[in-house]
Amino acid sequence: MNKRDNQIGAEEASIRPTRDQAEQAVRTLIRWAGDNPEREGLIQTPARVARAYREFFSGYDSNPMQILATTFSEVDGYDEMVVLKDIRFESYCEHHMVPIIGRAHVAYLPEHRVVGISKLARLVDVYAKRLQIQEKMTVQIADALNTVLQPKGVAVILEAAHQCMSTRGVHKPGASLVTSRMLGAFRDDPSTRREFLSIVGHSTIAPLPNS
Ligand SMILES: [Zn+2]
Repeated sequence: MNKRDNQIGAEEASIRPTRDQAEQAVRTLIRWAGDNPEREGLIQTPARVARAYREFFSGYDSNPMQILATTFSEVDGYDEMVVLKDIRFESYCEHHMVPIIGRAHVAYLPEHRVVGISKLARLVDVYAKRLQIQEKMTVQIADALNTVLQPKGVAVILEAAHQCMSTRGVHKPGASLVTSRMLGAFRDDPSTRREFLSIVGHSTIAPLPNS
């Protein structure tokens, strides 16, 4: 690819294709799989897939900082950790575009501000509903929370099954990847970290369903 092509590529990438172009791409993939996109059972499929993609990847339309924008400073001296555990998420591996299904445990130790708990779940979704790698998603969730709330510490654990591992490649269903990011007190203070790990029951957590 020469320099000029590269520039055009970058410009094109920033402009969303039309619905028609998206459906055309699905038809191409159906043909690539070996089927006929014009047969009756598949005729509506490109439109359905295009719609499904708007939902699968809705995270691109939301700003995580905006979600966290409303914080509450009246915490009445509450200074214990806030933990939301077992937040189910569905994401999509950026290497194969197949699902990553798992759960997140998100915690922080408030300094001055707290945020509504539903916002923690939405924060996970905003980053999940994109093309992802789990390690990056873990960092993004933790860092967003840390930036907005400026708490004494943040902890995020993600555990997920990757369909690119279970349905293709090495074919290992049931394996789950665990990633974590610990900031502030969760990183520096072993007793804080231990308390968090025991709250989320990390050592005794039930296995993920095979997916
Ligand atoms: Zn993959």
